This record gives sequence, C-alpha cells and structure tokens, in this order.
Amino acid sequence: MAANLPRRRIVLLGATGSIGESTLRVIAAHRDRLELVGIASHSRHQRLAEIAREFGVKHVGLADDAALAAARTSDAFSAGTVFYGGPVGLAEIATLTEADTVLVAVVGTAGLEPALAAIAARKTIALASKELLVMAGKFVMAAARASGSQLLPVDSEHNAVFQCLQGHRTEDVRRIVLTASGGAFRDWPLERLAEATPTDALKHPNWAMGPKITVDSATLANKGLELIEAQWLFGLRAEQCEAVLHAQSIIHCLVEYRDGSILTQLCPPSMTFPIQHALLFPDRAPCPTDDALSLHKPFTLDFRPVEAERYPMLGLAQAAMVAGGNAPAVFNAANEVAVAAFLGGQVSFLAISGVVEQVLAQVKNTEPPSLPAVMEADAEARRVARALLPTFNSSSR
Ligand code: NAD
Ligand code: MG
Repeated sequence: MAANLPRRRIVLLGATGSIGESTLRVIAAHRDRLELVGIASHSRHQRLAEIAREFGVKHVGLADDAALAAARTSDAFSAGTVFYGGPVGLAEIATLTEADTVLVAVVGTAGLEPALAAIAARKTIALASKELLVMAGKFVMAAARASGSQLLPVDSEHNAVFQCLQGHRTEDVRRIVLTASGGAFRDWPLERLAEATPTDALKHPNWAMGPKITVDSATLANKGLELIEAQWLFGLRAEQCEAVLHAQSIIHCLVEYRDGSILTQLCPPSMTFPIQHALLFPDRAPCPTDDALSLHKPFTLDFRPVEAERYPMLGLAQAAMVAGGNAPAVFNAANEVAVAAFLGGQVSFLAISGVVEQVLAQVKNTEPPSLPAVMEADAEARRVARALLPTFNSSSR
C-alpha cells in the first residue's frame, strides 16, 4: 500500500450493529490509513461511549430520543462530545466537513435520508444498507451521478461483483450470479418449515449477522433484495441478475462476460473482507481476520439451483424487480413488517411469504415520480401488511 497517504476520515452509521462492529475491527487494524470521526446508532449509548473513547470520536448520533437524553447526561462520553439527534441529526453527522467517507450500515430504511445528504455533500459512500437501493435506487443513483459521489458496495456479493468488474466494460457483461448459502432451512424437509421458530431461523450456517438479515437469508428475501440492489449499482437489466445456492459461502459472485468467461471472487464468509476493500479502495492490505482461506486443505465448492418451492420470497422479489416502479419498495416494506412479526412470535415462518405476496397484490404498482412517492408506497405497504398480520396469527395456524 502507498505510504504516507492522508488518512480516510469515516463516519459510521449503524456503529453498534453487526456491520458496525466488523467495521470497527477493520479501522482498528488500519489506524494509519483510517480515522473514525463520527458514529451513530439507534440507541445503545453505552456501547457508543466505549467506541467513542477507543477511537477518539467527537461526533456521536443517536436516533432514539431517550437514548440521546441519557447520553447527554452520561459521564461516559468525553466533555467535548458533540451529539446529534433524530433523523435530522443523522443527516448532519453524515455531512460533517471533517469526513470524506460515510459507511451506511443502518438496518432498514432509516439510512436513506442521511445517505442522500452524504451523497449531496459529495462524500464517498460505503454502502451496506441494501434497503436504500431497493426502495429508492432510481433516486439514489441519480443523486450520486449528479454530485459525482462514489458508491462502494460493502454487501459481500456486490463488493465481489465490483471487484470482478474492475478493468472491464459493463456492456460486455452477459449476467451476474449472486451466491446464496440457503440459510438455516436449506436442508430441512419442506413439510417442517411450517413449524420453524425464530430461534431456528437465526441459526445461520455460515454468517454471523443481525437478526433481520439472518431471517432474510433463511427465506432468501435477502438474495432477492440483493438482486435488486445489484441491478441499480451496476446498471443491469433484471434478467441479467440471478442467484444460485452455494453452501460454503466462499465464492460470492460469478460475473459472466459475453465471451463466456466467468470471473469470480473468493474469500471466507466474513464481512471484514468486503468492508476493508471498500474502505481502503483501491489499496489493499492484510485483513484482520484469523480465518483466511487455506488452499492447503481439501475443500469443496458446490452449487445448486434455487428450489422455488422452498424459497418463494426469491420469486416474489424477482417479480417485483421485473415489475419495477414501487414494487421493490413494497416488497421490502412488507418483508420488514412480516419478519418483525415472525421474530416477535406473532406469525409463523411461512406467513412471511404469505403476507408479502398479498401486499404486492393489493398495493397498486406505479412509477414513483419522486422520493416522497416512494415513502408513501412504503408506508402504504406497511399499513396493508400490518392489517394482514392477524389473519396469519401463528396461534390460529
Ligand atoms: P444490525 O441489526 O446488527 O445493526 C443495525 C444498526 O443500525 C445498529 O447499529 C442500530 O443501532 C442502527 N439503527 C437502527 N435503526 C436506526 C435508526 N433509526 N437510526 C440510526 N441507526 C439505526 O444490522 P446489520 O446486520 O449490521 O445490518 C446493517 C445493514 O447492513 C442492513 O441493511 C443489512 O441488510 C446490511 N448488510 C448486513 C450484512 C451483515 O453481515 N450483517 C451483510 C450485508 C449487508
Ligand atoms: Mg450479502
């Protein structure tokens, strides 16, 4: 890596989450190249105070009012700490003049406004929150084109595609294939899925992640969201984006060019690899992980097609991607409501796809003229999904 480069100054939105903690490991390993200048989360102010002390961070954001009030009176933060509250505060911390890169790792759609603010302020965006492009890909990509802000994918599959596209022309790409582990239920008999519990769904075979995305991995909604995310990030048509099951999660994508050559990227299933790639890009450095891929022991890489019956959420996501308009935002919003209800013990695992299918059928699909129109479709999808939940009540099934 080039010596004596200025340090990249980073704001980390979602610092207390799974991606947030992995990002902290990357920054701690490369303090000569990376400096953390701002952190934000929903609540968990004590953890933010620990991070602020460890990395000498002055700017701290909390979306939750009660947590913000507690943080302001806590002596765990140093006296010079500047606090930011609520959605407006998140947008402020995302546009700090002393930052050049904003890593967006807020779960759900709360990262949208701060990400757009950071794009308008011409920050480089390291993007983990896939919901943003799924909901508002048209507007986020247009904003990035207008400001010249660079979007670097952190999601492992997209980071892999990004790496495989370097030095190539997108118009030469025939298709990209994102790999999916298949999640917790990939080997369950289909008839047992009706009784799957949140505890079962949260046992991911390969990755340690936040609860929502772990359930999305079990349904393959996550891969559906990722196909939509990929379409926007790389400017591809819906039919050029596919998924395949790959149990080991070592190969993260396949990029097939028009001459039939397929390029791929391999690394162990740890988010430190893509996070580090995005934060240091285009530099490379050793990764702070102890599970580097060994080529000295035998290992197998296998692939199988996705079973439509086991993973109806992938088919629903693909239909939403082809339909375009508001449909991806509606898919995403309905899925968030259904997954939260499943995790809360309100509905069964199979109800997730049931709810999403019905919401997609009930909410009229239109081409959103503006971001507020997308937010309206998102809100409507949530209302319709919530209204449907009692009909899927787990005790009545
Ligand atoms: P998580 O649930 O572990 O953490 C979420 C973070 O977002 C927390 O820090 C939380 O405080 C913060 N947050 C939630 N609501 C907020 C709000 N209103 N304002 C500010 N902060 C808020 O989630 P995660 O697994 O780290 O995932 C984060 C994002 O990254 C998601 O969009 C997910 O799809 C994406 N992603 C995650 C992984 C992974 O391995 N975990 C991989 C690829 C992409
Ligand atoms: Mg992923």
